[in-house]
Amino acid sequence: MNVALRFLGVGNAAATELGSSSVVLERDGAPLLMVDCGQEALTAYVEHYQASPGALFITHVHMDHVAGMERLFIRAYFDQALRGRLKLYVPVKVLPHLQSRVADYPGALAEGTVNFWDSFQVIPVSNGFWHDGLWFDVFPARHHLPETSYGLRLRGSFVYSGDTRPIPEMLAQHADSGETVIHDCALHGNPSHTGVADLEREYPLDLQRRMVLYHYESAQAGSDLERRGHRIARSGQVLELPAPAKPETGAR
Ligand SMILES: [Zn+2]
Repeated sequence: MNVALRFLGVGNAAATELGSSSVVLERDGAPLLMVDCGQEALTAYVEHYQASPGALFITHVHMDHVAGMERLFIRAYFDQALRGRLKLYVPVKVLPHLQSRVADYPGALAEGTVNFWDSFQVIPVSNGFWHDGLWFDVFPARHHLPETSYGLRLRGSFVYSGDTRPIPEMLAQHADSGETVIHDCALHGNPSHTGVADLEREYPLDLQRRMVLYHYESAQAGSDLERRGHRIARSGQVLELPAPAKPETGAR
């Protein structure tokens, strides 16, 4: 099994020229799971694959991560093969926020008689989920209020931090099997996001060496991060990943 991550966008909320931060996990070259669906991310997805995503995981509900969902709802609703089948994995504590952000409006379509969720198969997630034979761990990150933003892990393969401040306590547990760690990191940190000085202070060197940084503020900032010795992701890049560990089916 070959697995890779395609970066649809790597920018922060202000850096729309870098695309809204989002990845697609590909297995043997085919899209398996999209992570986050900002406006530019959905555009990039459709442009590349010439299709709608069939499965989506949402880390949190800032608009640069969910603003594409209204278009996705419409695309799926008018696609007989997809309507009601687009798997949407959402951490259960994020679900109320997603409901109020994108779904809680009377008359989802002007034509009427349609619920927003009619397009999707909503799967609330606690500590992880099965998707197409693979187990994905889900864990809380640090991004504003507790338990409003989550990271994703495919054991042995990758960890995707989502928007977060440094979370060494989480990665000690969830990046302990040689995973490539895709981590929020800008040149300058703030109360919501990791800056490179935070990253270098909080994580051991061997973990930093497994990191690929995304969610930075400009192309120039990306180059500056590289000059400091870090690996960065670029929009449109495909990153080959280590093969996932075999899931322990009995335990989950
Ligand atoms: Zn955010």
